[in-house]
Amino acid sequence: MNPRASHSVGATREDGDPIGAEIHALAAEIYPICRSITGDGVRQTLDILERHIPISRTEVPSGTAVYDWTIPQEWSIRQAWIKNELGQKVVDFTRHNLHVVNYSMPVHRILSYEELAGHIHTLPDQPDLMPYRTIYYAENWGFCMRHRDFEKLGPGSYEVFIDAERFTGHLTYGECVIPGETDQVFLLSAHICHPSLANDNCSGIALLTLLAKELLARQGLRHTYRFIFAPGTIGALAWLSRNEDELDRIQHGLVVSCVGDGGGPTYKRSRRGNAFIDRAMAIALRDLAPQATILDFSPYGYDERQYCSPGFNLPVGLFQRSLFGTFPEYHTSADNLDFIRPRHLALSWKIIRYVIDIAENDWTPVSLCPKGEPQLGRRGLYGAVGGNSHASDQNMAMLWVLNLADGSHSLLEMAERSGMPFTDVMTAARRLKEAGLLVPAAPFLDPTI
Ligand code: ZN
Repeated sequence: MNPRASHSVGATREDGDPIGAEIHALAAEIYPICRSITGDGVRQTLDILERHIPISRTEVPSGTAVYDWTIPQEWSIRQAWIKNELGQKVVDFTRHNLHVVNYSMPVHRILSYEELAGHIHTLPDQPDLMPYRTIYYAENWGFCMRHRDFEKLGPGSYEVFIDAERFTGHLTYGECVIPGETDQVFLLSAHICHPSLANDNCSGIALLTLLAKELLARQGLRHTYRFIFAPGTIGALAWLSRNEDELDRIQHGLVVSCVGDGGGPTYKRSRRGNAFIDRAMAIALRDLAPQATILDFSPYGYDERQYCSPGFNLPVGLFQRSLFGTFPEYHTSADNLDFIRPRHLALSWKIIRYVIDIAENDWTPVSLCPKGEPQLGRRGLYGAVGGNSHASDQNMAMLWVLNLADGSHSLLEMAERSGMPFTDVMTAARRLKEAGLLVPAAPFLDPTI
C-alpha cells in the first residue's frame, strides 16, 4: 500500500464516534511521514501537531552525551530504489517508507543478486507484509520487501541507490505544558520516531495531541500536564536529562502507544507497582473495560523503561490496547490506517480521560456525622425508587462513602474497596459534601476548594 495515498482511508460510518474519528484523521495525517529518531520527519510531525496545540521544541546537538548514550548524527533521506537490469524499479521508497531500513547509510552500487540479498529484509512467515527495520547505531544499509516480491527477483545485477545522509545535526523533541493550579505534574508521553506505522506510533501521538487540546480548554485543572513527544529511548533520555530538577513533581505518568487496535486494553504497571497511577488505571479498566489485562512492570517496552529506570523510578505506567509485539501487524506494513479504528481509539481516549478524572477529583473526606448512619431521607439524599437501579447504586455509593469517610480513605480507595464505579463514588461524595455531611481531611486534597 502506498502510505502517501492513504489520506483517503478514514473513518467508516459504523465507526462513527466523533472523537475516535478525529483521532483517526490526525493519525492519518501524520502516517505518511518518514520519521526516525532524528531528522525532519519528527519536525514535520510536530508542525502538524502544532496546528492543534502549542509545542515547545528542543533541539539537542549530535554528539551530546545523555547519561550512557550519545545523541547520534541526524539522518535524512530523499529517495531510494532498487532497479533491475531493465532499469525497472523493483523497490521504491516513494511507494512506502518502510522499504528502507531506517537510518541506512547512503549507497549507490551495482550488485549481484547474492550481494543484494544480503541487504534485503523480509518476513517469510508473513510473505505479504513488509517488516519495519532500523539500524541506528551501525554503519550499514538495507531494504525491506514483501517476501512474495523478493521471491520474484531473479539472478542478475541490480542497481541500488539510497540518497540519504548522516550528518552533525540535532535530535528534536516536543513538549506541550498545560499549567494547572498546582505544580504537581501528570506526564503523558508518546514516542515520535516510527515511520508509516499507524498503531505503533501515530495512534498514541494523535490521541495525546487531541487530549492536550481538550485539557487546554478546561479551567481549574489541579495538575500541571506535560505532554512529551520524543523519539523512543534516546529522545526520552534527552528529555529526562534536561528536566532532572523537576522530576520530583511528577505525581502520575502514562506512556501511550498502540491505542487504536481492538485488542486489550493492556496496562503495564509502573516499576513501583502500587503508585496512584497503577491503582487509578486498575479502577478505570475495571469500570470501563473489564476484559483488560494488567501486567506487572517489566524492563522491556517503550519509554517507561527510561522513566522507571532505578535512578528515576517515576510513577509511569504503559497504556496500550494490544501489548506490543503480540499482534501480527506489529512492526509491519500491515500496521496501517485500516488496522486502527475510530471506535477503538475512542475507548482508549475514554479510559485515559477517566484516569485523569480520578487524578483531578480524588480527595479524602471526613464525616461530620460518624456515629450511626446519618438520616439521608430527611436531607433528600436517599433517592431509592423501586426498579431504578442507578438510584440504588447512588444510594449504595453514598453509604460506602459515609462509612469510609474517616479521613483515612480517599475516593480512589473507596472505589477500590466498595467495587463501586469511581464516578458514582465521586458524585456521592460531592452530594454529601454539599449536604454538609462531609469535609475534606486536608483542604489541599479537595478539588472543589
Ligand atoms: Zn515500535
